[in-house]
Amino acid sequence: MQDRIRRLNDAPVRENARYVLYWSQMNRRARVNQALERAIEVGNERRLPVLFYEGLTCTYPHANDRLHTFILDGVPETAKQCKERGIGYAFYLRRRKSDANDVLYRLAADAAMVVTDDYPTFIAAGHNASVPGKIRVAFEAVDASCIVPMNRHEKRNYGAYTIRPKIRKMLPEYLRPITEQSVGHRWRGAPPGDFHTNVSERNVAELVASCEIDHSVPPSLSYRGGQVEAERHLEYFLRENLRRYARERNEPASHATSNMSPYLHFGAISSLDVALRVKDHAARHHFIADEFLEELIVRRELAFNFARFTARQDSLDALPEWCRTTMREHAEDARGHVYTAKQMEAAETYDPLWNATQKELLLRGKIHGYYRMYWGKKMIEWSKTYEDALELMIRLHDVYALDGRDPNTYTNILWCFGLHDRPWGTRPVFGSLRYMSFEGMKRKTNVGAYMEEIAELERTGRDRWRLAGGNQPAAGSHPALHD
Ligand SMILES: Cc1cc2nc3c(=O)[nH]c(=O)nc-3n(C[C@H](O)[C@H](O)[C@H](O)COP(=O)(O)OP(=O)(O)OC[C@H]3O[C@@H](n4cnc5c(N)ncnc54)[C@H](O)[C@@H]3O)c2cc1C
Repeated sequence: MQDRIRRLNDAPVRENARYVLYWSQMNRRARVNQALERAIEVGNERRLPVLFYEGLTCTYPHANDRLHTFILDGVPETAKQCKERGIGYAFYLRRRKSDANDVLYRLAADAAMVVTDDYPTFIAAGHNASVPGKIRVAFEAVDASCIVPMNRHEKRNYGAYTIRPKIRKMLPEYLRPITEQSVGHRWRGAPPGDFHTNVSERNVAELVASCEIDHSVPPSLSYRGGQVEAERHLEYFLRENLRRYARERNEPASHATSNMSPYLHFGAISSLDVALRVKDHAARHHFIADEFLEELIVRRELAFNFARFTARQDSLDALPEWCRTTMREHAEDARGHVYTAKQMEAAETYDPLWNATQKELLLRGKIHGYYRMYWGKKMIEWSKTYEDALELMIRLHDVYALDGRDPNTYTNILWCFGLHDRPWGTRPVFGSLRYMSFEGMKRKTNVGAYMEEIAELERTGRDRWRLAGGNQPAAGSHPALHD
């Protein structure tokens, strides 16, 4: 556990406290969560109960119905799991900018210690830099996102080829189930204070409507949030797709990937849990799942490593020298087509495949991984400057992607500009950055089937690939998806 912990201030543990506070910013779950286990450990040592606190504010950048709904979907299950484990649970929905903004500080005033998630991007990274100094009680950040703790890497790695051997060496130590402790002192009574917001499956839409946020971005047509949904997606993946993942993951129309990224991003499921279950399933069915584990562990943790050691993850300055040099040399190259941000956001380009990928983002809140590379590369080709392309890619992820604002977001967007890649043959605009073409996509994938699928999704508003069940409109007719 110690190698997952970063002490973020030097304030003492409070005597005469009422509880140990776990402030869940990213890992919104009460199972397989090392940060919560750390809070329980301290609680048991100090003979105190644990309080699990999570909040949702209307003030984070681009707060909208899609992101709010996805987060709120998960609240009832987290509350239930906390209750089962004897942990207190409090949730605060800050609906209006004028509503109180000091709940964490009020809760921390009665806490022996505050434990939170160590997370290297977006709001959590900012909070972990600014809050500990303002709280007069011990404050720890625990890495419950990575399998091999971020702390085990001393510096930024150049690419998968440098981090892979290190991860492989350490994996036997970390790729094992965590011990979930029993709580010595169960939480009794209601959550403290007067801010707690009750969330049930039935009132999510009403709560979202009551918030001062952008109501023009509707919930995803395909993904509901929460641990129950994460579990259903994982079970479906193990049963139907894992075996064919290595062969078909780069064929978007095949739907062979796990769709875990939104659930991993909001911490509804842990990557450790996913990796262990994948490994176990593969072993029981006599195949290996190395390709999937490479993405889930090596690629994902390379992204966390990049974010941990890079101050400006959203800047071209974070790129290796060869990328910046080649872009400098080609900055003035004539662009064949230049589209405005508005045209691209509205999926109005000459390229029907690219438009379909952008519509997938608008409707589902996620683009298939293989076409996502194409999506990014084309934006470089069609933007006036590299900086414009980067800014738009990040903004579109911030607004529409359920898995956006993640270390994977910045790392992979910068991959389009050469990060963790190598120089290729030189061509206009791209210089020696890797290029991707429509012809290439047509040769390697079933472009027609994907475009038809997205057109149907747009026309009907129903995703026949959405897992059946849950409380959203019934899915279409793909038989494999009905439990
Ligand atoms: C321009 C661009 C933007 C991207 N933005 C995001 C983003 O905002 N959030 C995000 O999670 N991923 C992003 N990716 C990486 C990748 O496309 C997604 O992780 C993947 O498509 C998610 O779908 P899945 O869960 O079905 O993946 P699977 O293929 O089932 O993979 C399982 C898990 O492995 C991890 N993974 C897969 N591919 C990568 C990768 N290339 N790098 C790091 N980890 C990976 C993810 O956590 C994923 O959920 C982006 C890629 C590109 C090219």
